[in-house]
Amino acid sequence: MQNKIWLSSPHLSGREIFFIEDAFEKNWVTSQGENINEFEQSLSLFLKNDVRICALNSATSAIHLSLLMLGVKCDDEVITSTFSFCASANPITYCGATPVFIDSEKYTWNMCPLALEEAIEDRISKGKKPKAIIVVHLYGMPAKMDEILAIAQKHDIPVIEDAAEALGSTYKGTACGTFGRFGILSFNGNKIITTSGGGALVCHNQADKDQAVFLSTQARDSAPHYQHSQIGYNYRMSNIVAGIGRGQMEVLSDRVEARRKMHDFYVEVFKDIDGVDVFSEPSNDFYSNHWLSAIVIDEKIAGKNREDLRLAFLEDNIESRPLWKPMHLQPVFADAPYYGTNIAEKLFDNGLCLPSGSNLSDDDRIRIGNVIRLFLRK
Ligand SMILES: *Cc1c(COP(=O)(O)O)cnc(C)c1O
Repeated sequence: MQNKIWLSSPHLSGREIFFIEDAFEKNWVTSQGENINEFEQSLSLFLKNDVRICALNSATSAIHLSLLMLGVKCDDEVITSTFSFCASANPITYCGATPVFIDSEKYTWNMCPLALEEAIEDRISKGKKPKAIIVVHLYGMPAKMDEILAIAQKHDIPVIEDAAEALGSTYKGTACGTFGRFGILSFNGNKIITTSGGGALVCHNQADKDQAVFLSTQARDSAPHYQHSQIGYNYRMSNIVAGIGRGQMEVLSDRVEARRKMHDFYVEVFKDIDGVDVFSEPSNDFYSNHWLSAIVIDEKIAGKNREDLRLAFLEDNIESRPLWKPMHLQPVFADAPYYGTNIAEKLFDNGLCLPSGSNLSDDDRIRIGNVIRLFLRK
């Protein structure tokens, strides 16, 4: 059996260990230290837009904290994209609130502004004005932020941007993660850069950042003993893990470039194939990091479906994966409201994510290309 080609595996720079050793030497091994400060600083420089970063132990925690900081409580409703990983919606339920799922539109695969507006008006008419909107930039593709922000502003609802997959992506030249009241980043093992596991909350002022640090370190009041007047959480990133992040920040731009090259590779491989679309930016306003490259296969034209291709890859020990299964189709969210026209459902039925790692070699690309060409000829 040939070695396994993964969908998206960790790609270290080699410098991470230097920052980890530094933390060991200085004995700063918990939730304070130079690695955390420097990692947060380098992220804020990368994103520009004058943001303050709070490094956390996951993006899931970051979403939970952002909802708490917006005052989301039991029996509230929060709007989010149906077409996403479960971690966009799960923190809504941690607050005792209900997710309201919005369909995709076909150009960015992200939240459809029309369905969003319909949902807000319908929820308000039922006496339930949504407390927040969590908009996702899926696979690195920026959502239609102008339209979404305008609707949110009109109804005075705060926006949280789930940019867990979109570090390095921009919309009209501005970094994803910096448009909303809060932004979310992930450094999980499969993301564009990794800290082994971790995330960050992007804030726009020092008071929000201070509150996020406070809540993520068990909400200790200032007193010589342990004094608490609020419920806190143990969500802060450790200084050791942040050392991995510092090593990764040195190569982030290279990683974005390599992922975008994988997308170009697939555009080339499928260029003359009818019935297969490679997911690409709808216009120059959108700049995707192409965290995962993805295709949609129209079985009626191509004569084959995505499951056929997935199995052909598997035969050659190459990992690929169907697109996210929409959240409103998940058994756990069966009772949650949904607004849309089943675009996400069709994407799930016909779409496939392809190996996209920044560490794939020329030999890997040859193997991937061969499987695809053989598959298309059959
Ligand atoms: C990975 C991911 C998350 C969760 O990130 P963690 O750091 O693993 O908690 C949230 N939202 C989306 C869209 C993701 O892809």
